[in-house]
Amino acid sequence: EWIDLAEIVENSVQKTSLKAKQKGLRIQLNIQDDLPLVWGDGLRMEQILINLIDNAIRYTEQGEISVQLQGVDRDQVMVSVEDTGIGIPKTELPFIFERFYRVEKSRSRQYGGTGLGLAIVKKLVELQGGSIEVFSQLGKGTRFEIKFPTSSNGKESTP
Ligand code: ATP
Ligand code: MG
Repeated sequence: EWIDLAEIVENSVQKTSLKAKQKGLRIQLNIQDDLPLVWGDGLRMEQILINLIDNAIRYTEQGEISVQLQGVDRDQVMVSVEDTGIGIPKTELPFIFERFYRVEKSRSRQYGGTGLGLAIVKKLVELQGGSIEVFSQLGKGTRFEIKFPTSSNGKESTP
């Protein structure tokens, strides 16, 4: 189905906002207007975003979470989820999308979780023709970017 990511991003933020609030974190939402539609499954898209926002909340003690939807170029849109949390060590970054991978035992005890979230996220992103990237600085924060092809890309477009 053709989906409006703006609506899905808004729903995902809404569904995670209580958890953020309970932790004293604000979710800053920034959505670009009039973006082209994306081909995919709305529920899966929501699952992807909720997972990323849930991580951002879980691994952040202070500051804020920022969720953005913007066009990259004519053919792609990007959603980014950025936090001011504990960050991920550079040496661990290549492994975080592996199943059951969790950064540091001490951290895992403190924060809970199974280490499946990001493995599922990556699978779902790729199943929908998208890509995912992560940027992080230990002690400063983390940013995930997911990109999807749009309706203005390929044969569906009617110029
Ligand atoms: P769950 O299966 O409940 O999501 P999890 O959060 O531990 O468990 P993933 O979501 O796959 O598992 O994340 C893997 C690891 O990557 C986490 O254990 C955590 O250490 C690190 N991580 C993920 N997102 C962030 C983030 N936003 N900030 C800091 N570390 C993160
Ligand atoms: Mg997680």
